[in-house]
Amino acid sequence: MAKEPFVSHFEKVIDLVDRHERFLIIGHVDPDGDCIGSMLSLALFLGARGLEAACFAPGDRSDLFSKLPGAQTICSLDEVSKFDHEVIFAVDLPTVERSEGLLKPGSDIPIVNIDHHPSNHRFGTINIVDEYAAATTMLIFRFLSAMAEDEITPDIATCLYLGILMDTGGFRFQNTDAETMRAAGRLIELGADSYTLTHDFIYMRKYTTLKLLAPVLESLELYDGGRIAIMKITNEMLEKTGATFEDSEGFVDYGAAIDDVELVALLREISQDRTRVSLRSRDDHDVASLACRFGGGGHKKAAGLTIDSSISVAEEKILSGLRSLL
Ligand code: AMP
Ligand code: MN
Ligand code: MN
Repeated sequence: MAKEPFVSHFEKVIDLVDRHERFLIIGHVDPDGDCIGSMLSLALFLGARGLEAACFAPGDRSDLFSKLPGAQTICSLDEVSKFDHEVIFAVDLPTVERSEGLLKPGSDIPIVNIDHHPSNHRFGTINIVDEYAAATTMLIFRFLSAMAEDEITPDIATCLYLGILMDTGGFRFQNTDAETMRAAGRLIELGADSYTLTHDFIYMRKYTTLKLLAPVLESLELYDGGRIAIMKITNEMLEKTGATFEDSEGFVDYGAAIDDVELVALLREISQDRTRVSLRSRDDHDVASLACRFGGGGHKKAAGLTIDSSISVAEEKILSGLRSLL
């Protein structure tokens, strides 16, 4: 797919980096591997130049991320409010809302928006948005390769590799194209610790994760001749197994792995009147369009949303929404 080279954008970003000292890097709520890898790679790059960088993403995140290089640059909201930043990088963040109020466009502070969501609102002063990039770290890799290749340390390469690894589902999803594989190869040459990342983030499962997987698989129901799968995580399941919601990363893919299933929803009970939904599509169905109908967003084949309804009411709404895509 044709990709924008962004050369003039990269030059403007380097100009901002050269002229400022304190950078706030913001990711989306409940940050995933691509979001964390994007934040930390930028923070490490800026830090090595003697600049100050603070990272923040609202919500919850996996404990595994704290082992990554640069993890000490992840700040609390309190630390962020005292950090007198001059420039903001927004990474893997499609909309201002997904920063939960932290990002306020329209101020004098320049915003560099680096993202690969098709639904990105281009809220930045500089927008490096390419929906064909497999991960946001692919765009940061393109930026660093073009502007400062010799500054890509093994630690930075590791963080960049993590984003690609996670957003391609371990190099399995359809976004795994030649550029993705070339970048991954180059990052290994530059010192990315690919084996440890694959081991820790793709292969290893916590005990509580496997305990939670059992009732979630039990909840799986097929509809419309097996073309739609719906799975659920209730608070009762979390309480019984001692797992947290972050332990369920990747569970939705079990539904998508069933022969003949074209659309999957994983519903998670947040409270009695709030439900979070992960959507996945096989074939050509666009689940981002359905997510947008409920105020969510994402990619054509992987999207999400939150509904102000109980899990059972949400299930009915999502099932009829998925049927409308068939
Ligand atoms: P998830 O199912 O949480 O793995 O999310 C799949 C994709 O949808 C990711 O690219 C998310 O950034 C996006 N996404 C998830 N939830 C939302 C939401 N509430 N609003 C916008 N995008 C979302
Ligand atoms: Mn993400
Ligand atoms: Mn991403």
